[in-house]
Amino acid sequence: MDQITEIGTILEWYLSVGVDEALADAPIDRFETSKQVLARGTPPVAERRASPASAPASAPSPGLSPRREASPPGPSAAEAAIAANAREIAAACDDFAALEAAIRAFEGCPLKAGALNTVIADGTFGAELMLIGEAPGADEDRLGKPFVGRAGQLLDKMLAAIGRDRARDAYIANILFWRPPGNRKPDPVETASCLPFVERLIELSKPKVIVLLGATPTSTLLGLGDGITRLRGRWRDWHGIPAMPMLHPAYLLRQPQAKREAWHDLLAVRHRLLD
Ligand code: URA
Repeated sequence: MDQITEIGTILEWYLSVGVDEALADAPIDRFETSKQVLARGTPPVAERRASPASAPASAPSPGLSPRREASPPGPSAAEAAIAANAREIAAACDDFAALEAAIRAFEGCPLKAGALNTVIADGTFGAELMLIGEAPGADEDRLGKPFVGRAGQLLDKMLAAIGRDRARDAYIANILFWRPPGNRKPDPVETASCLPFVERLIELSKPKVIVLLGATPTSTLLGLGDGITRLRGRWRDWHGIPAMPMLHPAYLLRQPQAKREAWHDLLAVRHRLLD
């Protein structure tokens, strides 16, 4: 094997395990980044108030937290410290502009260092229908918008099938605002750091119906540990708002025969929106 072929083979192997972007000249020690985030802990309130992200301290706390019906272990000290910090910042945001600025200024999620963009939401803030996915992928990271790749194009078709259009009458976000390397599953610290902002986003947008796309938003927001194929298709409650867990469009691209179940769930969503 000549040297060029060998390098090509190595690059192909990297791609196959999800290493698809060169992020920096020097490697980043993610364990060290997480430790630093923890060591910083909750910054003093005065420091946060000085940031443009912070709205008046008198804002009511959303008081939201995931209901853990079936996930066995409670949050670790690391998750709890990060979540408390994020929750305090999110609670002080009274409108979308403040929340958006707070998310962009937030340094508590280790993924931010390796991401090109902060991906918050797309569509119409305040729409009756809100959809929550897992995390930005490569296309979303590059463009700074959720669900713009192949899965997003399928999602747009699914919305069109029930007479909805993302620009007009749907609002789309993810559990994470930054892309996990190689599109791996979010880890608990990453999830804990973003969740209070996601909850506040839902609370401020006040959808009539929430659609949870895949296992990650379903387990994170509802605290349900079963697989999505068992949980999909049944209405749940998220702090008084009906929530429908559905199969993720990326799964439907891989398993087109499952579109039948997705169609069933979409019809239930359409029906609920017309109620
Ligand atoms: N998958 C997701 O869950 N979210 C995106 O934004 C894109 C793909």
